[in-house]
Amino acid sequence: MSDTGDERGRRDEVDREAEQGAEQRVQQQDGQQDEARGRAGEGARRGRRRFLKGAGIAAGGAAAGAVGGALLADGGQQSILASVGSDLTPDSAMAVPVAGPWRPRHNGHVDIVYSVDTAQKLVALTFDDGPMPNWTPMVHDVLDAEQVKATFFLVGERLVRNGGLIKDRMARHEAANHTWAHQNLSRMTHPEALAAIGRAHRAIGSVLGREARLLRPPFGHFGGTAVSAAGQLGYDMTLWSIKMLEKTYEAHPPKLVDYIVGNTQQGGIVLAHDTGNPDRLVALRNLVPMIRGLRAKGFEFVTVSELREAGARSPAPAPAEKP
Ligand SMILES: [Zn+2]
Repeated sequence: MSDTGDERGRRDEVDREAEQGAEQRVQQQDGQQDEARGRAGEGARRGRRRFLKGAGIAAGGAAAGAVGGALLADGGQQSILASVGSDLTPDSAMAVPVAGPWRPRHNGHVDIVYSVDTAQKLVALTFDDGPMPNWTPMVHDVLDAEQVKATFFLVGERLVRNGGLIKDRMARHEAANHTWAHQNLSRMTHPEALAAIGRAHRAIGSVLGREARLLRPPFGHFGGTAVSAAGQLGYDMTLWSIKMLEKTYEAHPPKLVDYIVGNTQQGGIVLAHDTGNPDRLVALRNLVPMIRGLRAKGFEFVTVSELREAGARSPAPAPAEKP
């Protein structure tokens, strides 16, 4: 492996650790919440928090002592402080950022799209986390050779660094937003989420001259503030209906091809990554048989926005769930 390769490996490792760290923090938080729920009933908890917030606004720093005294009858000071510390509802759960008036920029609503009901046999391939020098050019080579359209959910700071890799290769494709630095929006306040999405939006504008309209929240994690910040910036959200199972099929590439070709449904959105851990290569190295397999079944490849337009033009009932 070359020096550059080593460096890439380390960067991937850092990315993966950040991902795992975020997961762990969320799990720990979940654990604390369960524990706290065990200690105090929902009603009592809500009552305390509302009281504490009110007292905090009225008396500022002096409130804590007074609150401790006032609520001693309800379980004692220690349990009160524990319930304050656990802060059961995160700030990121807040769905409406201001007292009002307020509305999301496009028609007052934010769509959260997993797949699209369409009468046409369409599918949207999506690639997250780039652009990066390791595999982004290879993905474009394949898409160019097969004449396939895709949607790239770009990480803003990577786009600013590596924009030259894709600047002249995006004509057929859709450029979409994956935050500035792959942040976990589900832990952010509205202003923080607004900054993470907004900075990536501006990067896409300045590097590619496009106005992105679709956001995919990193890790598929989002709370109320991510939705409201997306709405304020005129975005809809895009998740996915099927993803590359790289870890499952890393040693069995033909099975991954069978899985994707066999399970992608009409109007589906396929999640893939054009950078990251080496296990992701099993998907990228087998894009050609996947693309040809889906085409053989009559699928046509479109961007996510084209898929949504097709759904609006010629809607169809959702395909039946597999038993
Ligand atoms: Zn991602």
